[in-house]
Amino acid sequence: MSNLSDTSIQYVKGVGPARKLLFANLGVSSIEDLLYLFPRRYEDRRTLTKIAQAQVGEYQTVIGKVLTVHSRKAWHTKKSVTEVVLDDESGRISCTWFNQSYLVNYFKPGIKVVCYGKVGMYKKILQMLSPDFEIIDEDDEQLSLNRIVPIYPLTRGITQRYLRKTIKQCLDKYKGDLQDELSVALRNKLKLYNIKRSIEHIHFPNTLEDQEGALKRISFEEFYFFQISVILRRLSITQKPGVAHKITDAQIVKFMGAFPFALTGAQKRVIREIRQNMQAPSPMLRLLQGDVGSGKTLVALFGCWVAFENGYQSAVMAPTEILAQQHFETVTSWMDKNILPSMKVVLLTNQLKGKEREKTYLDIKNGNIDLVIGTHALINEDIAFKRLSFVVIDEQHKFGVRQRAILSKKGLNPDILIMTATPIPRTLCITLYGDLDVSIIDEIPPGRGKIITRAFSEEKAQEVYAMVRAKVSEGRQAYIVYPIIEESETSDLKAAKEMVKHFKESEFKDLRVELIHGQMKRELSEKIMQKFKAGEIDVLVATTVVEVGVDVANASVMVIEHAERFGLAQLHQLRGRIGRGVHDALCLLITNPTTTDGEARIKAILSTTDGFKIAQQDLIIRGPGQYFDRHQHGLSELKVANPVTQLDILELARQEAIELTKADPKLGKKENQRVKQIIRNRYPNYLEMVEAG
Ligand code: ADP
Ligand code: MG
Repeated sequence: MSNLSDTSIQYVKGVGPARKLLFANLGVSSIEDLLYLFPRRYEDRRTLTKIAQAQVGEYQTVIGKVLTVHSRKAWHTKKSVTEVVLDDESGRISCTWFNQSYLVNYFKPGIKVVCYGKVGMYKKILQMLSPDFEIIDEDDEQLSLNRIVPIYPLTRGITQRYLRKTIKQCLDKYKGDLQDELSVALRNKLKLYNIKRSIEHIHFPNTLEDQEGALKRISFEEFYFFQISVILRRLSITQKPGVAHKITDAQIVKFMGAFPFALTGAQKRVIREIRQNMQAPSPMLRLLQGDVGSGKTLVALFGCWVAFENGYQSAVMAPTEILAQQHFETVTSWMDKNILPSMKVVLLTNQLKGKEREKTYLDIKNGNIDLVIGTHALINEDIAFKRLSFVVIDEQHKFGVRQRAILSKKGLNPDILIMTATPIPRTLCITLYGDLDVSIIDEIPPGRGKIITRAFSEEKAQEVYAMVRAKVSEGRQAYIVYPIIEESETSDLKAAKEMVKHFKESEFKDLRVELIHGQMKRELSEKIMQKFKAGEIDVLVATTVVEVGVDVANASVMVIEHAERFGLAQLHQLRGRIGRGVHDALCLLITNPTTTDGEARIKAILSTTDGFKIAQQDLIIRGPGQYFDRHQHGLSELKVANPVTQLDILELARQEAIELTKADPKLGKKENQRVKQIIRNRYPNYLEMVEAG
């Protein structure tokens, strides 16, 4: 028996050194990789449409022999046009490709070709524009015709027919070596295919039911191990003895009454939820979701205050220095106004150096500091707390499981509040956290202006700039955001650096215009941000550095150029920078979308300001794997399983994972050793935490 993940694909017939390199482009280097390179779709070629019966307006598969091949230059665009007429004796269809003149050499009259695309009609002739095509040889017919045919993701130099043949060979030779990671008992109970049958049928299903069964089994397995890891992680936090904080109703009333504004209903509700957890002896693990500006900081501070009143320390970790600083300023200003009792608060970032740092570390260790607000500098191994009982992680998706764990280990099994302004749709939330407690602030404090969002085409840019000027003359400030810092030869995008120069010289010559971007020295960008906050800049030209957290109430206009270039969550976060004051705000998108995804994003951002609706849209457009920008959540381990479309399988896997971990919370039993090993391989960070705890 061979170990498929260690066996190079070069052992497969037809794969030489050159092909091996091409396979690397598809992420395939071992036999296992190749067997797990799944089709992106299937074509049912058991009964093919006769060309004469092709439905205009539908996506269809047709097969025919090449009758004629022509290539010419389109007179107006100078693009090359390759036209092939296919004939299947029932009728003819014309297939056209643009700018791929080399195709002429592929299509020899008489050869058999399969095309898949949208059927159109032009001058009474059936046609397809830029269809997917395959040239069929006699000896490929078995795999490529008269069956449900897998369509794989390709890379240049590797064709469908070659891939099909190679995968088939690989299956025939190695499928016996596939190891089943699900027990027979579990498979029987849930009527799941075994792994051999699943892998075989995900590639070459005999029926659509077969394909479904194979997909179900493979997705189940991914969800199952992921859920086990998620549950173990949760248990590792909540099954320990924590601090049971004490807090009276009267104290809470006093806390809530101290602010110069009334708390929103949502804030009060979440405070109650956190209170319950903090009073209980087992540690809290709670996710707090709330749109930008919904007032999460205050709620987080409630927990810090409870810890303080009980004689404990708390910590707030934010993803950037600007954000940490902002939290720090908010807290200290509330203390200055006697809203909060005077806790000893310190700001801890990598800026803190030398003697000062040493002293701060010592103060934290001795318990002289009550609340530490900082960046990931907080997880430095030299930092020790005396009695940390409450931890806040802001913008959780910027941190990994691991960083979070390191911080909480510095405490006495502290209560943990994870905050995010990137709403996580329920399906994804279950996938990532299991039955983690969730609080939602779904109410924006009253008294804020409306945000109006409008889209303009590139040609209307001058009009947009004029609107910016109008707002500035009313005393407001503006952001103008670009997707890139500098112009480059390979793209024709407008860039922040060039545009700031342009604005200074012409458009906004008489205004105070500055630039901020991510590659600037931190001191400089911080200084510019401070100036903007102080109202000393009218127009801030920026890249996405202004994305998170920056809070300037007077900034009420945002222009986003090449808006289609930004992710949906990013657009939402950007837009969240305005509308934070009493003035109505304007978000002006300049965009000429060139892709359907880009168009979908613009449509979504125009249609709502509700972060949850946007998140759901985003999840649908991008798919779960890309939803977070990093791989730290283990989501990248879900190669096939999709929590959006396979919620039922996810639930099934979750139930089984709960059962297993209930019976054996540390995976210590002999029969679970293999499970433990799999978790260790696929989710190393997770198990590490369980074992260390
Ligand atoms: P988030 O962190 O959720 O984006 P913040 O906590 O930064 O939002 O709050 C945004 C602003 O709203 C802050 O200036 C804060 O002082 C203010 N704020 C918070 N709660 C309320 C409230 N209930 N009423 C009015 N203003 C509030
Ligand atoms: Mg915030």
